[in-house]
Parts: sequence; structure tokens; C-alpha cells
Amino acid sequence: MGVTTVNGKIKKEDLGVTLPHEHLFINSMYEFKSPKETVAEKLSNQKLTIQNLYLAINNPWYIKDNLLLDNEKLAASELVKFKEVGGSTIIEVSSIGCGRSPEAIRNVSNITGVNIIMGCGYYLEETLPHWIFKKSKSELVKEIINEIQYGIKGTNIKPGIIGEIGIGNSIGIWEKKSLEIAVKVQKETGLAISIHIQAVPTILNFNGELLGIEVLDFIEKAGANLNKVVIGHTDAKVEIRYIKKIINYGAYAELDHFSKDLYFENNDFIMDRDMDRVIAIKELIDCGLVRKILISQDTVFKTDLTSYGGQGYGHILNNIVPLMLKKGIKREDIDTIIVKNPAELLNIDEKYL
Ligand SMILES: [Zn+2]
Repeated sequence: MGVTTVNGKIKKEDLGVTLPHEHLFINSMYEFKSPKETVAEKLSNQKLTIQNLYLAINNPWYIKDNLLLDNEKLAASELVKFKEVGGSTIIEVSSIGCGRSPEAIRNVSNITGVNIIMGCGYYLEETLPHWIFKKSKSELVKEIINEIQYGIKGTNIKPGIIGEIGIGNSIGIWEKKSLEIAVKVQKETGLAISIHIQAVPTILNFNGELLGIEVLDFIEKAGANLNKVVIGHTDAKVEIRYIKKIINYGAYAELDHFSKDLYFENNDFIMDRDMDRVIAIKELIDCGLVRKILISQDTVFKTDLTSYGGQGYGHILNNIVPLMLKKGIKREDIDTIIVKNPAELLNIDEKYL
């Protein structure tokens, strides 16, 4: 049994408090839409500073620079703050397409002493380089299995989770191929699969429909081990019925938008708040579902970082755990959610090692 970090295998008992859906390095600039008006266009192409921060806090997509995390020193200084308040592991789910950076991630792990598990597989179709679409399913499966067994090209760094696998507006030709690849890789390696279900209107033609259940049906038929599958982004607008259905399949439901309570003006789409998330978690625990809940912050913007006025990677430990206690959630159940569940998810059977 064991878990693959960017620094090799460790025991599941050594993971401690784990955030299962984070990014240290990510490029979301594909979500940027340049304003037509000249003054706004000039503003939106400036570097993010304390002077223009107010524009990005109100709308994180307004300033292009806010959509890029690419600084190793900054990432390390932010992640240390997670460790200082009792955190010890993160899953860095950046996959191919959104700026996966194995060596930088390992450097941050070495500087901070935080365990980091990194991802593999493919993000949303519109983020991918064209060479990927030209390759066959079996070629891509082989490439990923090679990464898991021998290390990512040019390094000896091995992914410890498959994902985040990007699902956009529908389960189209690419999504089916990408999910089938993920399932094939899981069958060979035993690794868990973490799936991005589009839940906010950052892509074209988003219709608000959550595809978690359709994805579970599809991968179940393809032979996935649903006990090691995470359906992400279930809490943009928390729907208890949707979450319960996910858990009924044996999968994990991930509430990973803690600290995000954004309003999308163009779509008149408002995200739920942390309080709504905590109340939903209490209800799920009361229904006996604590073993299948995961929580995280999906750090993607500069404005999520403390250096830019955000809550940083320590938000769940600093603010959400106290809120959970206040709302009557037992310490033991909190530990299950932030320690035991991610460890169970990541732990791989001896036969795969
Ligand atoms: Zn995602």
C-alpha cells in the first residue's frame, strides 16, 4: 500500500491534513475575453498590483494576469502558510492543458516540506495542444502509464492521481476518448481519477447543467473503479440531491470552491457561499455520507493568494474548520473529511506497486 508523491512513495498514514483539489501552477488565460472598449482593454492587460486589485476582486477574469500562477517563489511562500496552520499534503490537479509543471511542483514541495501529489491526463478540449488529438487512444494510454511507472518525460517525477480530467459543456467525442483513457490507466495502475465537471460559466455556451451523473454512468460502463473516482466542483451552487446521487455510485463528491462566492454578471450566475457549503456538509453527514465527502479551495487566481489579498491555502484550516465546529459538525467527522478520505482515495493496493 502507498501513495505516490512528487518525491516518491509514502504511507497513507503520513499524509495528514490534505487538500484534494489545488493548483500551484496554472494557466487559465484561455478564459480571458479582451474588452472591446479601449480604456477597459488597457486596464485588463496590466499586471495585477495593489492599485488595480479592486478590479480583479470584483471580477477575477477582468485582469488577464490574474489568471496565471507561474511563480515558484510565490507558490512556496503561499504554501508554507498552509503548513504553518497544520496542513501537510495537497493534490495539485493541474493536468495537460492547464499548465502542469512537474519540476516546479517538486521544488515547492522540497522548499516547504508539504507532500504534493500531482496529476496526469487531459484538461478541457479547448486548452489542449493539437498533437494530442492526432494520437490514438492506445498511444495516449501508453504515454500516461509510462509517466506513472517511470516518471514524466525528462524527470523521475511520477503522477499519483489521474486528473483533473476536463469535462466541458457535453460528453462529446473528445470527452469520451479522454474518459476512456483515464479508465484504462486506472485499470493498469490503480490510481484514483479526479474529474472536472464544468460548474461555472467560464466557457462558451455554458448552460448550467452538471454532468457528474452522466460521466459516472459512462465510466462505470467503461469499467472504472468508482470507489476511486472524484466528481469535482459540486458546490458552485450546492445541490444536495446531485451530491447524494454521486455518492450513491460509490464516488466521492468534492466541494472544492471554498472561498469562492463570485457573481458572473454576463450570465447573472451567482455562486453559493462558504456558509451554504458547510450547512450542506452537515446535512450530508447527518445522512451518514461522511466517508465520501472531500473539501478543497481550487486555488486558481492570484487573488486567491494571501499576497494579493486572498485567503490562501490555509483558508479551510483557518476559517472553515472553526465554522464547521460552530455549525455542530463533530471534530471526528471533520478529521474524516480532511484526513481519512483523501488518504483512502490516494492509497494504492500492493498489487499495483
Ligand atoms: Zn477544475
